[in-house]
Amino acid sequence: MGKIGFIGLGIMGKPMAKNLLKAGKSLVVFDVVSSAVDELVKDGAEKAASPADAASASDIIITMLPNSPHVREVVSGKDGILSVVKKGQIVVDMSSIAPLVSRELCGLLEAKGADMLDAPVSGGQEKAEKGTLAIMVGGKEEVYNKVKDILDLMGKSNYVAGIGAGQIAKLVNQTIVGINIAAVAEGMSLAEKAGVDPEKVFGAIRGGLAGSQCLEDKAPRMFEARYNPGFRVNLHIKDLGNVQETGRALHLSMPLVAQVMEMMQNLAADGHEALDHGALGMFYEKLNGISLKKK
Ligand code: NAD
Repeated sequence: MGKIGFIGLGIMGKPMAKNLLKAGKSLVVFDVVSSAVDELVKDGAEKAASPADAASASDIIITMLPNSPHVREVVSGKDGILSVVKKGQIVVDMSSIAPLVSRELCGLLEAKGADMLDAPVSGGQEKAEKGTLAIMVGGKEEVYNKVKDILDLMGKSNYVAGIGAGQIAKLVNQTIVGINIAAVAEGMSLAEKAGVDPEKVFGAIRGGLAGSQCLEDKAPRMFEARYNPGFRVNLHIKDLGNVQETGRALHLSMPLVAQVMEMMQNLAADGHEALDHGALGMFYEKLNGISLKKK
């Protein structure tokens, strides 16, 4: 596989693209923010004038954009990938978007003889920088095998199933993480209200069945009121919106997601949308008139 087009150079896309450059790959990059493009050009990438321009110069086109409307615009909008795509090219969308949109865009690309994978990630900026993201892949397995080595320069990829299955895996991830953080905040609120030091409770339970990566990362944040992101509340609201849209289409009842979505919307309404999602601790503090911060 030759040149790689990379579209979307934000918090995640920029370090991911840099890791591909470090590994010796040739990149042609595009973002609507020209300063992000200029930074990558300094590191050796070529500059593209549009998604179509990046796509026509590449064998593989990676997208790392905020949500479904942005990916739809870059693939099928004006000067989009679809206007130039050729047989044999592979589009790998690594953004977290609605699985139904991945399937729709895959259909449009396949009609032109190209292939598409959905390959969202978990791990955040730090793991993007270290090249240790968890990458969940949907699409044809033979297409995945062609790009696996490239994906593994950005983290560890896992093939799940057909197109959209990577996004489903990501939505499952975001469901479990959101509910788990709310559970940590609710449990620690009980400790505080009962007059038992939440930090002592954390120490007593972390080795048992309640132990989790969410407990390990988020409980100390609550004790220190340390809510710098991390993973922002507004991104989790976006992902839970995609969870609910997908669940509704399947007539699936997801009462816990509905509750956690309300909590996150309440945080956003209070102006906390740019904080880490561990700020669910703040929601419970306000609800119960308590402080989880260590005294
Ligand atoms: P970001 O907002 O920092 O970056 C998105 C980039 O896309 C920006 O540079 C923006 O200018 C660019 N963009 C938007 N529309 C465009 C268009 N039409 N054409 C070209 N470029 C365009 O977002 P991010 O934090 O890098 O997240 C990207 C994706 O990864 C999201 O779907 C997010 O949910 C997911 N994700 C983020 C994290 C995280 O911790 N930030 C972790 C895991 C997954």
